[in-house]
Amino acid sequence: MDTKIINDINDTTLIEAAERIKNGGLVAFPTETVYGLGANALDPTAAKKIYEAKGRPSNNPLIIHLAKPEDAEQYAYTNETYYRLAERFMPGPLTVILPKKDIIPYEVTGGLDTVAIRVPADRVAHTLIELAGVPIAAPSANLSTKPSPTMAGHVIRDLSGRIDMIIAGDDCDIGVESTIITLSPKAKLLRPGLITVDELREVCPDIEISDAVLNQHEGRPESPGMMYKHYSPRANVVLLKGSDQMRYEFLQDKKDCGILCYNEDTELLKYKFAMPVGSKASPKEQAKNLFAKLREFDDIEEVKTIYAPMTASEGIGLAVLNRLIRAAGFEILDLKKE
Ligand code: AMP
Ligand code: MG
Repeated sequence: MDTKIINDINDTTLIEAAERIKNGGLVAFPTETVYGLGANALDPTAAKKIYEAKGRPSNNPLIIHLAKPEDAEQYAYTNETYYRLAERFMPGPLTVILPKKDIIPYEVTGGLDTVAIRVPADRVAHTLIELAGVPIAAPSANLSTKPSPTMAGHVIRDLSGRIDMIIAGDDCDIGVESTIITLSPKAKLLRPGLITVDELREVCPDIEISDAVLNQHEGRPESPGMMYKHYSPRANVVLLKGSDQMRYEFLQDKKDCGILCYNEDTELLKYKFAMPVGSKASPKEQAKNLFAKLREFDDIEEVKTIYAPMTASEGIGLAVLNRLIRAAGFEILDLKKE
């Protein structure tokens, strides 16, 4: 399949992209979180194409993207909490799960009776959804198991030849996927993101946090996507738990390994394959760079193992740690016990 790459984003090219989606095609587009791979969420055949293009397991549900929070009425059974969340956080990087209406096909929800809803703030994403006039089902626009794409080049690399069109916009501001909360049956955080637990508590004081956020789960999880191998670069990722000094000592004789580190780790930056992900004090900066840096290691043939710090779990840090732990396949080395 020939993939058309749109570099010049304007009314004409966005109308063309919206037409492709309406007609059952696949279009990748930028959002404020990561790039999405979009299809008409009301068309089961189009939804199936998403799974094929990504190599995604068919029971891993998709998020549907809407132009306005109130559009959810057509596709889901909303409630008062949904609208309180919408007022505070939409448009923006929040996904809310609600019981689905019949119009949403099971191909989109991975067979579940609930549907995940998001209203992106990104101007290109918003315009595309409005022009398409249908809800757009869109997971991240990467091959399944790879780190999510935060730059147009990542999408081109993963999906060229597999989808109809790629809207090659700017780099994504946030860099990790949306915060996901389910309201069915009660408020629970399923995936952390830029919107933190503390912020959610201001609207939903009794919100719970799914155990799956930082722990490995067997059996059927509440958030199916969280159980798969995820966000993984080619090399094996290992998280190092311990103080900075312990990390420096451990890595002394690991000069040929990939090292993901903080900007402040001058001790490590002198190594050949060290990659700073952001300031230790700024999980927001780490979130923005994380996936791009993991992908950069794919280009370094010598790197077979990547050591990364076990980052802090407070605030936005929880989103970074949730992705890193999965990139590492839950492999954590406790340096205190070494
Ligand atoms: P992605 O679009 O790749 O960022 O992944 C979307 C994720 O949202 C899935 O992997 C699920 O974990 C979660 N999700 C989507 N819809 C539902 C749903 N109806 N119930 C629970 N989790 C969902
Ligand atoms: Mg994804």
